[in-house]
Amino acid sequence: MLAITDKAKCCGCNACVQICPQKCIEMNPDSEGFLYPKTSKENCIQCGLCERVCPLGEPKSKREPKEILAATNKNEHILDKSSSGGVFYELALETLAKNGVVFGAMFDKQWNVKHSYVENISDLEKILTSKYVQSEIGDTYTLVRDFLKQGREVLFCGTPCQIAGLTGFLRNNIYSNLIIVDFLCHGVPSPKVWKLYLNAICKKPFYRVKTIEISTINFRSKNTSWRNFSFLAIQKGGKLLLNEQHCKNAYMQGFLNDLYLRPSCHECKFKRFQSQSDLTLADYWGIARVNSNYDNKKGVSMVFINTTKGESLLHGIKDRFKYIQTSFEDTLSNNGLNEHTHPHPQRAFFFANLTSHENNIIKLINKCIGKSAYKNLLKKVAHKLHI
Ligand SMILES: Cc1cc2nc3c(=O)[nH]c(=O)nc-3n(C[C@H](O)[C@H](O)[C@H](O)COP(=O)(O)OP(=O)(O)OC[C@H]3O[C@@H](n4cnc5c(N)ncnc54)[C@H](O)[C@@H]3O)c2cc1C
Ligand code: SF4
Ligand code: SF4
Ligand code: SF4
Repeated sequence: MLAITDKAKCCGCNACVQICPQKCIEMNPDSEGFLYPKTSKENCIQCGLCERVCPLGEPKSKREPKEILAATNKNEHILDKSSSGGVFYELALETLAKNGVVFGAMFDKQWNVKHSYVENISDLEKILTSKYVQSEIGDTYTLVRDFLKQGREVLFCGTPCQIAGLTGFLRNNIYSNLIIVDFLCHGVPSPKVWKLYLNAICKKPFYRVKTIEISTINFRSKNTSWRNFSFLAIQKGGKLLLNEQHCKNAYMQGFLNDLYLRPSCHECKFKRFQSQSDLTLADYWGIARVNSNYDNKKGVSMVFINTTKGESLLHGIKDRFKYIQTSFEDTLSNNGLNEHTHPHPQRAFFFANLTSHENNIIKLINKCIGKSAYKNLLKKVAHKLHI
């Protein structure tokens, strides 16, 4: 029976909950807003399945990819809709064309991030783009197993630890109709912090009760460019609520400065392809240094081909991309493959003060990462005066 004593040893993948034959494990949020399993002893039959499927129990060994590409979708419209080089879109499209099912992270009606699936091209947009919040897995591993058993082709995309949770749940059964995609993962922010930030930007000035309703959120809007991406929020009715470059947006700065990542992210066991995915995607931020001819303003992806299954899927759709082969050494020096994120020095202070700042979270984030409103104002003035 599972008992979480060290929070860094649970990534919240939900595999234990879904495998338990007695349904005696449930997930509850802690004070930081991350979900952890809690087992009720009464119904537990000590079968040990929960421990066996846990990806943190016995992490797999490091792997090296078979081949690595730098790739950009040839279709600019798809590039605009994707976070990076628009590779995931084509993998998903190929799966749907074979009457398959595609799993990924999407927003629910309250803008919570949850894993779910789509079966039609018209719904594909819902699971595109990076949502910088920990996505709730729910019962999706069980649904994946059901679809696989029906003989449907399934594509599942998630963080490397979610993928390790899925492969643990499937008990390492090799389903030929399953393609697994993950990405190089910086870490996942707390869903509670996300909701407090969302409430803060939706509060109508001078009207304490009314809040603004949102129709679109994009953490990776390319309206300036791929590298200089913005956090974008649009109100219902089409009015722009927020369009802030990531370096100026409080939520993105808190995320990128590791202020509110899940504790397991700081000891991640999945940075070197241990998840067992077929393909791993990433942003090729340093492509200009590797080959300036392939740099562009709309996004270039790293595509790590880890298995022959991944290889055959990707090679079938290669003509939809501009691509070049690239080396492991080049990707290592242009992305944080080896690096663990270190908790921001103010992380403990941030969470200790979260409750008292529920209505003032932007101020708390700025205070913790050392960006006071005064400093921001000075920066704005300096920018306007070109000094
Ligand atoms: C939390 C997070 C951290 C990341 N960290 C890095 C990093 O450090 N370095 C790097 O190079 N790339 C990172 N990425 C990946 C990168 O942002 C792009 O998603 C990736 O390059 C694929 O781009 P794309 O254009 O092909 O597909 P996209 O259109 O971006 O599709 C991405 C896929 O990711 C899934 N997804 C989105 N949000 C989540 C989520 N919260 N949890 C699980 N799955 C999700 C979507 O469902 C979709 O299947 C991260 C992504 C996320 C979500
Ligand atoms: S040991 Fe078996 S019954 Fe008990 S919580 Fe784990 S999976 Fe459920
Ligand atoms: S299976 Fe996943 S949710 Fe359960 S204890 Fe392990 S890491 Fe945590
Ligand atoms: S950094 Fe590691 S532990 Fe954190 S979400 Fe990503 S894969 Fe999971």
